[in-house]
Amino acid sequence: MSDQFDVIVIGGGPAGYPAAIRAAQLGLSVACIDDWKNTDGTQSFGGTCLNAGCIPSKALLESSELYDRAQHEFAAHGITLSGASFDLAQMQKRKNAIVKSSTQGILGLFKAAKVTPLPGHGRLLSDLRVLYTPLDGEPRELRAPSIILASGSVPMSLPTVPFDGVQVLDSWGALDMAAVPKRLGVIGAGVIGLELGSVWRRLGSEVVVLEAQDGFLPMADQQVAQEALKQLTKQGLDIRLGAKVSGAKTTKAGVVLAYTDATGSHSVTVDRVVVAIGRRARTEDLLGADSGVSVSTRGLIEVDDQCRTTVASVYAVGDCVRGPMLAHKAKEEGVMVAELIAGHYGAVDYATVPSVIYTHPEIAWVGLTEEQVKASGRAYKIGVFPFMASGRARAMEAGSGFSKVISAVDDDALLGVHIIGPMAGELIAEAVMALAYAASTEDLQRIIHAHPTLSEGLHEAALAADKRAIDYPNR
Ligand code: FAD
Ligand code: NAD
Repeated sequence: MSDQFDVIVIGGGPAGYPAAIRAAQLGLSVACIDDWKNTDGTQSFGGTCLNAGCIPSKALLESSELYDRAQHEFAAHGITLSGASFDLAQMQKRKNAIVKSSTQGILGLFKAAKVTPLPGHGRLLSDLRVLYTPLDGEPRELRAPSIILASGSVPMSLPTVPFDGVQVLDSWGALDMAAVPKRLGVIGAGVIGLELGSVWRRLGSEVVVLEAQDGFLPMADQQVAQEALKQLTKQGLDIRLGAKVSGAKTTKAGVVLAYTDATGSHSVTVDRVVVAIGRRARTEDLLGADSGVSVSTRGLIEVDDQCRTTVASVYAVGDCVRGPMLAHKAKEEGVMVAELIAGHYGAVDYATVPSVIYTHPEIAWVGLTEEQVKASGRAYKIGVFPFMASGRARAMEAGSGFSKVISAVDDDALLGVHIIGPMAGELIAEAVMALAYAASTEDLQRIIHAHPTLSEGLHEAALAADKRAIDYPNR
């Protein structure tokens, strides 16, 4: 095998593997190095997302939601189930099979695109050289005129509650539990805490979520966040805000988590703890001492708008650089960089990156929150349409939540769209398209939406912004 390629990608997650495939599509010879290690010691491509993130979490969210709906929704449809139960081992088996087929699928894609997969570790040296250490072989030097760093991220640990892989778990461990814990403590009411907390709550755990901040989902529109807090609390998630965890003690009764909040010192005893307080870029052992690539004080690889690092012809993409830690953002950066390397146009519109939280109901948004627009001083108008006024949502027993459109008063520009409700993650795609094409609120009002669909909610919300909603009283 040659040690010289046109492009070497270090990392085969949602940032690295699309970069490799796109570069190969554009006629370049590409190698992709990845050192993901499964619990059985094997390597697989796909990074955090496919192996231990987006895909397994959505598989368990789907299974647990079906079980929950069977218990709580079927009766309204006139469907009687006696003694609904679940088999966690089968749920985990299904999840693992989905992960396996997804990760093996990457190898199939590499083969079709003629990308050379290199399982093992990569380290950037000086002068566009990479030290590649195969899984079970001797290290050797590879060279390429362009190098893409896509090393991703790892869970942050809490020094006062260190991971032990048995009782104190990270998100990967939380996806792999073989039994439903009677009491589950989740530290961090962020995206992972809420998604995985929901999985285990639906399967019967008593879930306590300890969140250090006083506010709930501060990055989301607060009208949406408050509705989410209400719905999730109703489902039984015990979310305690302003709770600063000071330590954990393992006793016979379980893990005792000590925390303080505005009212004083407290403790809660649980059987398992999931620490989900954010992730950090993985840069250790990626950069040789003389690589020349700068890393910020926050541990992120420093890049410009087009993901160029401080070293010419070395790029970095995905979770290891600034911006939201999202698979779709990572993928677009990977594709952009591949196109730039091949001499084509490449860009990522960071203002239109959507966010989705896969709780029930789902939460999705794109653009600015009402709080951000207010802070900007720009005059704005708002249209809100509740799903309870949507015939399709009612037919689905999914009438909670709403669509919200925020627009500028001066030129009618769409500034932000926020949805909490059924299939919000799918519905937001229309709003992303609208923002990407600089649609006005009137454009959205004039587009025909099929009836009866959930997407009519967004149409009606746009109409409501000008007090012309038809299916709900205008306020
Ligand atoms: P990663 O996916 O972390 O991949 C990096 C890869 O590089 C890994 O395989 C790693 O082993 C390898 N690597 C690192 N350093 C080296 C080296 N020196 N040599 C060789 N290989 C190396 N995002 C969403 O958009 N939607 C979701 O629904 C979603 N759900 C998530 C659920 C969970 C539980 C978690 C933890 C994350 C979730 N995310 C989700 C976030 C998403 O997984 C990440 O944003 C995404 O995986 C980032 O892609 P990446 O390629 O930058 O990094
Ligand atoms: P996060 O940043 O979403 O949430 C972490 C939460 O933990 C925050 O609310 C923070 O205030 C809280 N926190 C921090 N330190 C704490 C402490 N000491 N005690 C109590 N609370 C504390 O991070 P995450 O949930 O770990 O997720 C990591 C990344 O993965 C996120 O950037 C997210 O975008 C990505 N992710 C995305 C999805 C999705 O797109 N649906 C799903 C899962 C993960």
